[in-house]
This record gives sequence, C-alpha cells and structure tokens, in this order.
Amino acid sequence: MKYDKVKYKVYDWKNWMVLHWILNPGLAFNELILGQRMPKVTLEDKTIDKPRFERSFVPCPHCETLHDGRTWSIENGTAFKNWFGLYCKNCGNIIPCLINGLSFLTLLITFPIWGWFRSYLKAKWLEKQPKRYENINIEQVPNLFGKKNWIKSGLSWGLCMFVLMSVFNIQTISFGTLLVEFIIWMVAGLSFGYMMKVFFNQAIHKKNKNTTS
Ligand SMILES: [Zn+2]
Repeated sequence: MKYDKVKYKVYDWKNWMVLHWILNPGLAFNELILGQRMPKVTLEDKTIDKPRFERSFVPCPHCETLHDGRTWSIENGTAFKNWFGLYCKNCGNIIPCLINGLSFLTLLITFPIWGWFRSYLKAKWLEKQPKRYENINIEQVPNLFGKKNWIKSGLSWGLCMFVLMSVFNIQTISFGTLLVEFIIWMVAGLSFGYMMKVFFNQAIHKKNKNTTS
C-alpha cells in the first residue's frame, strides 16, 4: 500500500514511539493478557488542524481503508481482546500489528502448548469480531492524555507498573524498597503522562500552517 507522503506522516517501526512498543518488556502484559495491539503502520494527517489524537489513521493493507485511530478505544469496547490483530470492519481481514519483543519470546517458548489450538482460537476470535464493531462512535472517545486527563492517566499507569513489579518481587521486598519503588513509578508515570500529553495534543507545526494558508 502506497501512502501520500505529502498529506500523511507515516509512523512505522523506525519511529521511536513504535520502537518503544517493541522494546519495552512491560508492554508484553498489554499484548498477551489484555490483547492490546499496535498496528505496524499509523498515519498522521498533516493537513487537518486538530490535535494529533484526532488526526491519526490506521490503514488496512487489504482494502486500503483508512480507519480513524479512535476506532480502537476503551469507550468502543475495542481497545483490548485484539490478540490476533486489529480487525478491519470494512473487509473482515486483519490489519497487521507489531509484536513486542518479550511477547515474541514468550509465544515462541510456549508454542508447543498453544500452537495446537491456534487455528481454532483464531477462527473463534474472528467469528466474534463483526459484532464488536457494529456501533463504533469515534466522537465519544476522550483524549486520555488531554489537558485534564494526562496526570490521572500517567499516575494510573505508574500504579499498575508498581503493583505488577511488586508482585514479581514479593519475596525479596521490604517496606523501604517498596516506598522507593512507589515513588519511582509515580515519577515515571507522571513523565510518561506528560510525554503522551505533548505528543497527542500537538497540532500541526506553524511552518506547515503557513504554507497551506
Ligand atoms: Zn480492510
């Protein structure tokens, strides 16, 4: 599939945000357990004067439909359970997704266990998809990293990571280290939230604005 490079900025594995999805081992949890997936390619429309959050599109390489990025969201009930990829409601195919490094290793090692059931599970999963996309409403999707939400979103992420990490180290941990880890994750959460806020709310660069007006 060819993209209009003048109109769209293409995000693929060469972009740091996308690379982060592959390299951060924590995200294997999102992928394997929650079924949250990141498409291999995301397009950012450079011509719409709106926050980035509202001008991100996911192209389907099978039918070339450009889906609004907000199609896959918690409000629409489609953010998770996408274990086999993102379903294209237009053609019924699966939009290829990235795979996190740790997810890949885990799947590889456990292949003898789940490999037998793969086709069966995939067919079952595919059967359920059309219904999930019947009532998609992108307008109801709030910006999780908007001006009011980013602190809450960042801190909740930090809290999740803190709980996850503590569970893993439960035998070796003391109250002191627990407190230090809590503070570290809260700070990490805030900086993550802030980074996302800057990214998702960025409007088109002034330079582009001048050339289009
Ligand atoms: Zn499609």
